[in-house]
Amino acid sequence: MGATGCGKSKLSVDLSIACGYEAEIINSDKMQLYRGLDISTNKISIPERRGVRHHLLGDLDPADGELTPADFRDLAGAAVADIASRGKLPVVVGGSNSFIYSLLVDRFHPGSDVFYGSGPEDRVSPQLRYDCCFLWIDVAFPVLCDYLCRRVDEMVETGMMEEMADFYSSESWPGRTGLLKSIGVPELEWYYKMGKFEKGDDEGGWDTVRRSVYEDAVRKIKENTCRLAERQVGKIMRLKSGGWDLHRVDSTDVFRERWVEVWEKEVMDPSVKIVKQFLQE
Ligand code: ATP
Repeated sequence: MGATGCGKSKLSVDLSIACGYEAEIINSDKMQLYRGLDISTNKISIPERRGVRHHLLGDLDPADGELTPADFRDLAGAAVADIASRGKLPVVVGGSNSFIYSLLVDRFHPGSDVFYGSGPEDRVSPQLRYDCCFLWIDVAFPVLCDYLCRRVDEMVETGMMEEMADFYSSESWPGRTGLLKSIGVPELEWYYKMGKFEKGDDEGGWDTVRRSVYEDAVRKIKENTCRLAERQVGKIMRLKSGGWDLHRVDSTDVFRERWVEVWEKEVMDPSVKIVKQFLQE
């Protein structure tokens, strides 16, 4: 578990390889469930998966609509059963805490809202339907936010605009409801409506209005990504205070210092220790 950009996907693969069991990963990011927008939704690439099988990652058609937490409980629950029936270890990773909650809680009430509701049914239940070991990668917010803004610039440089141009060039985009809320889609809608994006356009030739719409969209994407991260941490803390036994692993130094060495020492080693102890119990 953790905010967007904190390193969850990498940790899930590293742990799947290091835990001493054959593991398979189930994605619990509500946007990464769908086919398409791989750069904008930040899906882990095939080489980065390092041969570990992933479930519910880009498997669904966005035209089939938004999945509810109850739908996710059924789909991901079936994936857990399938993985376990083959004697393997299910590893759930992703930032959609409402989905993680619906999947893991023993009794799920589809009408409840444990994150924002205040009724008796909206209390976080600590009773789970599986034996779970939770890892929460946490990064100090200002450090994470700086990184997320740089990540948006990198996404733009590595093809996010082309990917969005493809999305908006299809007549059927309004029907791809599964992806319409994905960060980048609403922010860039006006920009693409203003004119067709042409690859290799000379930036100097863009009219000033369109350029400022573009710059505004990129600024909003950065802002909304940081807001998402903040909301995700709020939800994780709500689960923790509701009795979920989350092990917090602080990854802040990884973002400040030499990545590889600090990752091993401060994130990977403590995580492997926690998971191995859980598996031995
Ligand atoms: P909410 O109740 O706000 O939908 P949630 O816990 O159900 O919260 P989140 O995973 O926090 O779901 O996603 C909330 C919103 O954040 C999404 O609707 C989408 O706008 C954005 N979002 C989440 N994950 C991604 C992603 N991988 N790529 C782009 N946008 C994302």
